[in-house]
Amino acid sequence: PRAKASQNNIAFYDPNHHSAMQRQLDVEQRLRIALEQQLLQVFLQPKVSLDSGIAVGYEALLRWADPVLGFVSPVEFIKVAECMGLATSIDRYVLRTVFKNLKRSSEVNATVLPIAVNITSSHFGEPSLVDYIIDLSDSMAVPLELIDLEVTEGVLLDMGEQVQKNLKKLRERGVKVSIDDFGTGYSSLSYIRKLAVDAIKIDKSFVDDMQNETGCQLVAAIVAIANAVNLDVIAEGIEHQEQRDTLLNLGCRLGQGFLYAKPEFIETVLFNND
Ligand code: C2E
Ligand code: MG
Ligand code: MG
Ligand code: MG
Repeated sequence: PRAKASQNNIAFYDPNHHSAMQRQLDVEQRLRIALEQQLLQVFLQPKVSLDSGIAVGYEALLRWADPVLGFVSPVEFIKVAECMGLATSIDRYVLRTVFKNLKRSSEVNATVLPIAVNITSSHFGEPSLVDYIIDLSDSMAVPLELIDLEVTEGVLLDMGEQVQKNLKKLRERGVKVSIDDFGTGYSSLSYIRKLAVDAIKIDKSFVDDMQNETGCQLVAAIVAIANAVNLDVIAEGIEHQEQRDTLLNLGCRLGQGFLYAKPEFIETVLFNND
């Protein structure tokens, strides 16, 4: 029918579609420059023990304030970086920055807490991942126990031998691995037995849904799954005291969120708190 055909034509010239493509090109172009000029900054957000509120570690999160594009979310630029084949370089930049700061921190601070780095799924299937991390640890004299990794369920798209090998080697060396955004990746539950990981992170969307009874039951079920397979469980995006109380009641003992702290520049977190 004619109406449909013309709709299709209109869709082809959709100005939103055009600007989305233009945006991706802009982000690509600026991202290359940002990497060269080191415009990406590493921030840290604490992971806390929910009963005491005391930090037990941190998560590294990238921030990009571009002079041309303004603030660009990591959700957007990591996706673009993956398309450009730059994701591994970005992960490595974060790893180097974190190791450098851990080294300095252990020179001036009595206690040094572990820092978790988000690893892009495709990178987690690369043979070079583990050696890169071991080399950094050796050259900086920073123990591998101070580095954790987070990876989303997307890693299952490449549940190849290399992912298993990397996991095995990492855990032998004391590097803990968490499954990020657990439950959002439409993956089967059986992988959780096969993947030798240490913890699962409950996505913020589930924490938000705890205002409904069904949402609470869902989080209870996730905690039960974690317990059943002997994994730690940590809740993301806690903004309210009631969420913290409910999580503790459901048996979730670790969390992150604006209730405790927003991500802040790594040097401010590690060196400016007296
Ligand atoms: P993620 O790893 O699940 O990180 C949690 C996100 O939730 C972060 O957003 C954090 O700032 C935000 N968040 C934490 N607590 C709260 C809260 O209480 N309320 C709200 N509204 N948000 C909260 P961010 O930094 O924008 O990062 C988004 C995603 O981008 C991350 O999700 C991660 O998948 C990716 N990402 C960030 N940094 C890196 C990186 O260095 N490397 C890689 N590969 N991915 C990264
Ligand atoms: Mg994460
Ligand atoms: Mg997460
Ligand atoms: Mg998340």
